[in-house]
Amino acid sequence: MDASDLLRGALLQISGSDAVRTAVTKAPVSRSVVQRYVAGDLVPEAVAVTGELRGTNRLATIDYLGEDVTDRAQAERTRDTYLALLDALAEADLARFGAAEVSVKLSAVGQAIPGDGDAIALENARAICEAADRAGTTVTLDMEDHTTTDRTLEAVRALRADFPWVGAVLQAYLHRTEADCRDLAGPGSRVRLCKGAYKEPASVAYQDGGEVDLSYVRCLKVLMAGEGYPMVASHDPRLVEIAEALASHHGRTPDSYEFQMLLGVRSTEQKRIADRGHQMRVYLPFGEDWYGYLVRRLAERPANLRFFLRSLAGSS
Ligand SMILES: Cc1cc2nc3c(=O)[nH]c(=O)nc-3n(C[C@H](O)[C@H](O)[C@H](O)COP(=O)(O)OP(=O)(O)OC[C@H]3O[C@@H](n4cnc5c(N)ncnc54)[C@H](O)[C@@H]3O)c2cc1C
Repeated sequence: MDASDLLRGALLQISGSDAVRTAVTKAPVSRSVVQRYVAGDLVPEAVAVTGELRGTNRLATIDYLGEDVTDRAQAERTRDTYLALLDALAEADLARFGAAEVSVKLSAVGQAIPGDGDAIALENARAICEAADRAGTTVTLDMEDHTTTDRTLEAVRALRADFPWVGAVLQAYLHRTEADCRDLAGPGSRVRLCKGAYKEPASVAYQDGGEVDLSYVRCLKVLMAGEGYPMVASHDPRLVEIAEALASHHGRTPDSYEFQMLLGVRSTEQKRIADRGHQMRVYLPFGEDWYGYLVRRLAERPANLRFFLRSLAGSS
């Protein structure tokens, strides 16, 4: 494990503290970093940035920020924001044929509510799927920490009975993921493969960046050889190259898989990939509840984190 793996783990570990949350959300530097990664606070801003991406041939998957909601009314407000977003995308003619879809965290729509959280989240996710279906687009269920993996995959299965296009997310850092890729590589199955962004114990996840990369390649091989629709979510140039080589090895056409990257990360490369004739989808978050998302983005890149901590020290 190298220094950046350790730094990443340490940041994710302390981010649960209320004192750290208050310091980060109040610091002026946070706003400027957030602006790089987040499209804005409201639906019209998300729709406007989606339109700009379309102008450079990029697709979008839009996430309304929020997670770990334990209040049912809040979970329903999040659902309603997705419904309004899907209406607005349809009105702007950005949803058809999946040009802009939505990404949903089950913990934002009720999964973390004690007792019947799973049922509440499923009901809200179903309403979002119905709206996406009407708009002519799709939904992908983001993957959160490993304690939710089974329940989230269960929700994907339940929703796919009515909406076979529901996307699953698998995280290469988990030991279990290669097997999950095999289970989910069937016809039409949309699967986003990412490295994984949470602090996970060694009992369930690789801790070393090199091991995560090797796992990613093993998983890619399974997905590209399968009959599903792989969504290659990584900014890692080596993995993008390997994905392209595997797709060509398996005779895949450019419409049978796609690349995905985050808003604000390697934008020039995103455009280059789209210009090479690939489908390139950008994960586009919006909303005011950006703390958890920001912390994960800082943890991914030690250079960001050093800049951030220096500015934080200077602003206090
Ligand atoms: C579309 C999409 C959806 C995702 N959904 C999920 C999900 O549902 N669940 C989940 O756990 N994780 C999700 N992730 C996050 C993912 O798990 C990784 O944490 C993240 O993508 C960084 O891994 P990487 O593959 O880009 O490789 P890394 O090795 O982290 O990065 C490779 C290179 O990309 C650049 N880079 C990466 N991150 C940043 C950054 N934040 N700022 C600036 N440069 C950066 C750097 O140049 C870096 O050297 C998603 C990622 C993407 C792209």
